[in-house]
Amino acid sequence: MELLLLLLCLSGPLFYQLVCSAPIKESIRERHLQEGSKFWHLSDLHFDPTYHVNKDPTKVCFSSKGVPVTDPGLFGDFMCDSPYQLIQSAFSHMKHVDQQPDFIIWTGDSPPHVPVNELSTEAVISVISNMTHTLRQFFPELPVYPALGNHDYWPQDQLPVKTSTVYQAVAKLWTPWLSPEALATLQEGGFYSQLIKPGLRLVSLNTNLYYTPNKVTENMTDPAGQFKWLQDTLELSKQSMEKVYVIAHVPIGYLPYAKNTTAMWEHHNEKLVDIFRSYSDIIQGHFYGHTHRDSIMVLLDRQGMPVNSIFVAPAVTPIKSPLEPYSNNPAVRMYLYNPQDYSLQDLWQYYLNLTEANKKEMPIWSLEYIMTEAFGIKDIQPQSLHELALTFEMPQSKAFQKYFTYFMVSYNETITCEDDCKMVQVCSVHFLDRESYSWCIKKGSTGGYHFRAKN
Ligand SMILES: [Zn+2]
Ligand SMILES: [Zn+2]
Repeated sequence: MELLLLLLCLSGPLFYQLVCSAPIKESIRERHLQEGSKFWHLSDLHFDPTYHVNKDPTKVCFSSKGVPVTDPGLFGDFMCDSPYQLIQSAFSHMKHVDQQPDFIIWTGDSPPHVPVNELSTEAVISVISNMTHTLRQFFPELPVYPALGNHDYWPQDQLPVKTSTVYQAVAKLWTPWLSPEALATLQEGGFYSQLIKPGLRLVSLNTNLYYTPNKVTENMTDPAGQFKWLQDTLELSKQSMEKVYVIAHVPIGYLPYAKNTTAMWEHHNEKLVDIFRSYSDIIQGHFYGHTHRDSIMVLLDRQGMPVNSIFVAPAVTPIKSPLEPYSNNPAVRMYLYNPQDYSLQDLWQYYLNLTEANKKEMPIWSLEYIMTEAFGIKDIQPQSLHELALTFEMPQSKAFQKYFTYFMVSYNETITCEDDCKMVQVCSVHFLDRESYSWCIKKGSTGGYHFRAKN
């Protein structure tokens, strides 16, 4: 029946409007607020302690690397990483929204984007420590579950396969939040798992071990034995009837803005997709960061059916490289989930309009969108995201235009994404392994946007 409906939904825009995108009731917002359980997702803080408004635009922050900034203000600049005031304003907004969340997930990258010789192991640890203490200050009662980012190491990206000063330091810093078992593997390899609710296990992976600039691990089949550990952990979870949330910094799949490009080494990406497919029935969601942009992916099983929802959260830092045409406004997000089966129900994306905030000298964080309302879907589970993503493929898809504006955290609504840009975005949502992704790109290059799921 579901398959039939799906095929019908694909058959034409009119049928889609009538049946597949039933209007969302007004009350859904209130219902969610009252009934759901919530957690925050924070990513890519990239704190730059050198940020200060200065007459010389090349000297505002080390992270602009000598490039003149364009609009420096109290809360930052699009050429710089986050000033402390921006980070504080994000945390105080989260506190102000106060919906009694259960926990925070924090997917890494605390240090700034500066040349390697500007930092050191001590400097990196000191920034992570500063961010950890700031979080503790704002949320003394709330558990925080972190994942390490490629910048949370010195030299950046070169996270090692055995214990190191940084792994040991974070295991110490994060002791208030993590169990002794979790701290033990964190200290050895930068990853851990922890039962965070009855029947809900959080798995925090060190996907920096698979990140393409990591020269230490390029030719290894199983860096730090993390694949084996992950398989064993998921197998045990399955036997114990647990559900799982996977968090990590570097995302799986293909980048939504660069053709034929994975963030991880391709052979590691294939392996990880394979493991996730095998255990998709117990995984209730994946949460990543690193790209600094807001995007989704839907993991399809080997038959082409949607089995997992994957979220890449946008960054708190607004930085962009001088070559990029756009950036992202600072962002934090909240997920709503069902406290019985831990399925994901919705997400609330908050953001700071940086230009406005600097102009008014007031950090007014606001709601950018609620996913179910913005896209007319009933929840954010795999089937719903899959149906949404299929609408992106239609020519002049309004849903895709909206998705692309949110991709930049409403940085600039006039920038559009068509032709190759759209094809790369759309293929990255549904196709996470080499074979299906290449098929999508080939089809997209020759036949327009009618990819459908590959069966
Ligand atoms: Zn980052
Ligand atoms: Zn990163």
